Order: sequence, then structure tokens, then C-alpha cells
Amino acid sequence: MRIVHTDDIIKLICEMSIEANYKLSNDIEKKIKGSEKQEKSTRGKEVLSILCENLEVASKELIPICQDTGMVVVFMKIGQEVSIQGIGLGEAINEGIRQGYEKGYLRKSIVGDPLIRKNTNDNTPGVIHYDIVEGSKIEIILSAKGFGSENTSRIYMLNPTDGVKEIKRVVLETVKMAGPNPCPPIFVGVGIGGTFEKAAILSKKALMRDFDSIQENKEIDILEQEILEEINKLGIGPGGLGGNTTALGVNIEVYPTHIAGLPVAINICCHANRHIKRIL
Ligand code: SF4
Repeated sequence: MRIVHTDDIIKLICEMSIEANYKLSNDIEKKIKGSEKQEKSTRGKEVLSILCENLEVASKELIPICQDTGMVVVFMKIGQEVSIQGIGLGEAINEGIRQGYEKGYLRKSIVGDPLIRKNTNDNTPGVIHYDIVEGSKIEIILSAKGFGSENTSRIYMLNPTDGVKEIKRVVLETVKMAGPNPCPPIFVGVGIGGTFEKAAILSKKALMRDFDSIQENKEIDILEQEILEEINKLGIGPGGLGGNTTALGVNIEVYPTHIAGLPVAINICCHANRHIKRIL
């Protein structure tokens, strides 16, 4: 049994919280930087150029990419041959977030009770998902999810016979309703199948998958490309000021579902799709 102490988890989560807010992953940065050439509208080009400059400044001067430094979402895969020692794991993750947001001068955006709305002043708690897997490693993906885009996400419980045509329709409807609010160009995560909550989690996970990675399921690969093309015909454009770059990527994750249903969740992320992966 491999022993991992929660002190190491706290330190790592602290570093990841800061880094995620200062620098985007290579795939996301590449998509944003490459988009200016393809954008046809002058205003759209200007917005993309400002976004690129913003990314440069943030990573060089170590300041957040956006003032909304997000709610932290953690996906943790824990090898079943690992024994975690120290304080409680959830407590350790939240301590790492607490330290990271303090040390990195990151805005604290979390309210402890959704109705009373008093700020917890340390950006905790995060939203944590655990998976137990084979092996003796721990994989951590941490995302700092902004709510301008989170608020525009949707879930649909489609009929089992609705199929691809209806899936496309609801994704496009969601992006159209979102308009300029999620700070386009956006990234779109789609979760298809499972149950109500499984589809939502899949859509969030889809946003964390490398946008340069190869989708092994050919039909889904085609669907991702077709949806991306159709979104970019909507004309919303960078910053919502018009243009052909509304989305920079669509990732779809699927899971088996019940014969009576077809859940489809659409999680929208702004261009600041901040996530970071580490193995412990
Ligand atoms: S949606 Fe994204 S870019 Fe817009 S304010 Fe929120 S975090 Fe920042």
C-alpha cells in the first residue's frame, strides 16, 4: 500500500489553484491564439487579439486571467492501492484551495449558503468528485470555473428516440440563449447518457478533456465537429460582438443510459477554460 499524506495534497492543490488562474493549458491557449487568423470580422479579430495579450500579461506578471477566479471543481481519481493519511481528504482539498486563493491574491467568490449569500472569504468549499480506480497513483484535475459561463449551462431530458438531430438542436439552443454572457469564444462540454446528474458531470468532464485529443468514437468525433461548425454559423462572435468564432471546441462524453431516456447536459465555459492536471 502506498501512503500519501494530506500535507502533500494541500500543497499541490494550493499550487494548482494559483497556476490554473494564471496560465491556461496548452490546448486551450493554442486554440485562442490560433483563432485570430480564422476570424473574419474586424471587431472579432480585435477582441481575440486583446484576449491573447491578456493571456501573455497574466502568465508573465503572475496575475489572474480574469477577475472571476471561479469556483473550484476537483476531479480526483484515487488508486485503490493508496492509503491517504493525515486529515480528512475533503478537508485537505479545501485547505489547499484556501491557501492557494490567499497566496495567489485570487478573488474569493463563494457564498456559504446559497440563500443567505454570505461570502466564506476563502473561496471554499470546492466541488469535489472522487473516483476509485486501479493502481497506486492519485490523479487530480482542478478547474476554476467562472459563473458567467456556468450560468448559461443547461440540461435536457430528451426522449429516447430523439437522436442526433435533437441533440444538435438543444446544444445550439443553449449557445444561442447564452449569447454574449459566457464571454465568447466559448468551449462547449456535452454529456450524453447516464442519469440526470451523470450527464451533468460528464459535460463538466468534457470541458477538461484535452481539446486536441483524438475522440476515439468516430460517430461522436463527427458530431463534435458538426456541432462546432453549426455554433460558429450563429454569428455571436468574440465578446458577442459578431463574427465566426463563437466556439473554439466541442467535447462530448457519453455513458450508457436507460431505455426510456436520453439525458443531454451542456456545460459552457468561457475562453478562460482554466483547468490543470497533476499526478501524485
Ligand atoms: S465567464 Fe469567464 S471570462 Fe467571463 S467573467 Fe466569468 S470567468 Fe471571466
